[in-house]
Amino acid sequence: MKGVVFLDRDGTLIEEEGYLSDPARLREIPGAAESLKKLSEEGYALAVISNQAGLARGKFREDQMEAVHWAFVEHFRRRGVEFDGVEYCPHHPEGVVERYRMACGCRKPAPGMAEKILRRLGVPASCRIWVVGDKMSDILMGKRVQAETILVATGYGETERREGERRGERPDIFLPSIREATEWILSGGKAR
Ligand SMILES: [Mg+2]
Ligand SMILES: [Zn+2]
Repeated sequence: MKGVVFLDRDGTLIEEEGYLSDPARLREIPGAAESLKKLSEEGYALAVISNQAGLARGKFREDQMEAVHWAFVEHFRRRGVEFDGVEYCPHHPEGVVERYRMACGCRKPAPGMAEKILRRLGVPASCRIWVVGDKMSDILMGKRVQAETILVATGYGETERREGERRGERPDIFLPSIREATEWILSGGKAR
């Protein structure tokens, strides 16, 4: 294993649709599957970690989220990409659906989902870890697991970058999309 790449889903791999509940609306961000295939062929483990507070907020039901999940996995599988892990956080502290209303340890920027995957994959401490996402919550989560962090301009990326700057929070690098993020990772990225 050359490294682990944690990937946000909405706004990073597929277009941000705002509480995506219909698999028919799933659209790949150009170059995402091709990029992930390359990473996988080069020996990187790929894991998707996604906040899906739409469940806690009552924006969609579990069966709808599952349908989107399978459409997502299948879309990438058909293009030669197998994920080593996919985790969702359904929670939100102010949710309206009682069973999902909680301050959990998995909602990004909390590191729960990433830590679970690192444990499951048996990733050695010396392994390089990357996080690619369109929100500062992805980046802050990445910093908690000692990852190298890439904010992409797709999805909410541009806005998140500006708001992050205002708070003094920065990713290691800001790049246009998953395509450039992949090139950056494959080229070795920044020396630590
Ligand atoms: Mg996102
Ligand atoms: Zn959670």
